[in-house]
Amino acid sequence: MTAHAPSEGTQAVTATRVLVLNSGSSSVKYQLLDMRDSSRLATGLVERIGERASRLVHTPAHGERRERTEQVADHAAALKAVAEELRQDGLGIESPELAAFGHRVVHGGPKFTEPTVVDDDVLAEIERLVPLAPLHSPANITGIRTARALRPDLPQVAVFDTAFHATMPESAYRYAVDVRTADAYDVRRYGFHGTSHAYVSRRAAELLGKDPSEVNVIVLHLGNGASASAVAGGRCVDTSMGLTPLEGLVMGTRSGDIDPAVIFHLARVGGMSVDEIDELLNKRSGLTGLCGDNDMREIRRRIDAGDAAARLAFDIYIHRLKKYIGAYTAVLGRVDAVVFTAGVGENAAEVREAAVAGLDTLGIAVDAGRNTVRSDVPRLVSPDGSRVAVAVVPTDEELEIARQTFALVGEDRTVDA
Ligand code: ADP
Repeated sequence: MTAHAPSEGTQAVTATRVLVLNSGSSSVKYQLLDMRDSSRLATGLVERIGERASRLVHTPAHGERRERTEQVADHAAALKAVAEELRQDGLGIESPELAAFGHRVVHGGPKFTEPTVVDDDVLAEIERLVPLAPLHSPANITGIRTARALRPDLPQVAVFDTAFHATMPESAYRYAVDVRTADAYDVRRYGFHGTSHAYVSRRAAELLGKDPSEVNVIVLHLGNGASASAVAGGRCVDTSMGLTPLEGLVMGTRSGDIDPAVIFHLARVGGMSVDEIDELLNKRSGLTGLCGDNDMREIRRRIDAGDAAARLAFDIYIHRLKKYIGAYTAVLGRVDAVVFTAGVGENAAEVREAAVAGLDTLGIAVDAGRNTVRSDVPRLVSPDGSRVAVAVVPTDEELEIARQTFALVGEDRTVDA
């Protein structure tokens, strides 16, 4: 963005580093990347912010992992601690090599459809959107404010979880709810995990040796939160999460799709408050609500031991997944690849196998041998000659945030050192 000749007596430095910050309500995860080769210089996290025993784990690419427990009062203190760790490795945020901060921001509302350099107006608009993501957005905003205070001269870029889904047609994003009421309250499908869906769908096209514009892909992001998306020629045309991340697939603790009248019923007949129902559906439902565990490894272990509740939870999870694969096959018309990603999608061969079982008529199948090979690189797990490729592509949201940030502000950013 700012390229200028070095002044006399100074040396020109090309700023190629991006510090990616993912600020949650009580944690900050960070990665420092060098965008010349997309390498990681350091990664880490501060968790239990605000508690007496906060924990900081810092791993430089060239050096020992460091861990300490001490009180970190707030996000400002957390970022100062991160800055201190980076300084110890000669990677301080005061370095002229740092080009920008890239912030994960959960909700971009209807307005933010691209990565955006944050100024006062942008910050005010993100604040206006807080009611759409009251648990996440305040922490995202604090992260941006804190980073800006530390390096006011550097661009702070917001990369929105919702942005990739902004290309959905209105027939997919509009709910069949009274238009005036919906519009008055910004009620519509936004979708989340967009950074992951963008990265994974692009990598899947690479795996097929094609340009993203040539392929139609169903992406299944199965982590603790889970979402599916239909991506046609590199553009999202539908996704399973909605106004909030509650809609769609069965997740670790979220119900995903239910009849909305369940909420009225629980309020009227069960006497539950809106907040109690919110907590029930977001924190005490999904796999946890069904069997008491949200970790797929533990659920598989229990199934092997003959546990009926774990079996049923798994079957409900798979049933929902299969419904979305079918629905998005219909939405896309032609599917070139079904792609699994995130903690469950990348690691749980049984989930992949069960999700596509019986879909041979749609051309979707896995090869048992390939599917069970453990690997951390993008790979095909379908049999040779399949009409639809089934792939596993490890997601990398931090790299994608850094890539989008650098594309916006970083190219040949040269400063005087
Ligand atoms: P988050 O949504 O928190 O970013 P991740 O994408 O890291 O989550 O996924 C976390 C989930 O991945 C865990 O809750 C667990 O269910 C699942 N998982 C991780 N490793 C494995 C594994 N080896 N086998 C099955 N499931 C796994």
